[in-house]
Amino acid sequence: MMQRLLQFTFDFFESAPAAPTTHSAGVDKSSPQPVQQVPAPASFAHPRATRQAMLDGIPVAYAFKRGKRRTIGFSVCADGLAVSAPKWVPLYEIDKAVLEKSDWILKKLQQTRERHARLESARIDWKDGVTLPFLGQMMTVLIDPHHAFGNAGAELKPSAAEALTLHVSLPHSATPEQLRDAVQAWLMRQARRIFTERLDHFSPPLGVRWRKLSLSSAGTRWGSASADGAIRLNWRLVHFKLPVLDYVVVHELSHLRVMDHSPRFWDTVREVVPDYAQLRGQLRDEGIPRW
Ligand SMILES: [Zn+2]
Repeated sequence: MMQRLLQFTFDFFESAPAAPTTHSAGVDKSSPQPVQQVPAPASFAHPRATRQAMLDGIPVAYAFKRGKRRTIGFSVCADGLAVSAPKWVPLYEIDKAVLEKSDWILKKLQQTRERHARLESARIDWKDGVTLPFLGQMMTVLIDPHHAFGNAGAELKPSAAEALTLHVSLPHSATPEQLRDAVQAWLMRQARRIFTERLDHFSPPLGVRWRKLSLSSAGTRWGSASADGAIRLNWRLVHFKLPVLDYVVVHELSHLRVMDHSPRFWDTVREVVPDYAQLRGQLRDEGIPRW
């Protein structure tokens, strides 16, 4: 009964994956020590940092959390380093574990920072002739006042091989914001059409039924699924080629069968998308332009 009242929702975030490390600290269950407040700034500083380590001469301030877990976990995302540990592990053991992991931590922090810089430089300059990816193909956006009285707002036309042109019905005097909004409206319509088609396509082989689709635009969240069959997908997935988009659709539909990220979940995904690991990597590594 309780199960029915609770709504299980699983989201996934394609930031650098956490690499939990096994830890075999002794049974020192002495009273928990207060978490030390460490002042910013540092070379790498998590916005919610409460502890700091000196790794290879570089100060790294990280978010630290105690929880119900058996190992010390490390994760690096756009914010920085986060460390979580079982309640009973003393702080000096955590300091030691962070030091032992320093190569991995510094490498991941550096990679994440570089990726962020790359995405920043890919910010879209909204003007006639701007290009952006649509289903993995380059699409050129053209302002086309001759379409001004149509009702669709924009129309896609194939140009050269592997290239697309989106004719947007706006006057040449349109502002960058008007152009961006018109393109976004068109992309969101495409997203809803494509997602619906792909959800219908993959539901039967997975033996699940989805109920409702909503579009999201949250920063790094690509999708989520609720136990009641509601699926949320980020409309910006339409920038990726179809197999990558399909992976996310299958990922969320698989949650209607397995509501966690256990080996059984990944087996379910693999049944339908055998090369999911590679597609997942593309989703993470191929930045999409900044909106
Ligand atoms: Zn998931």
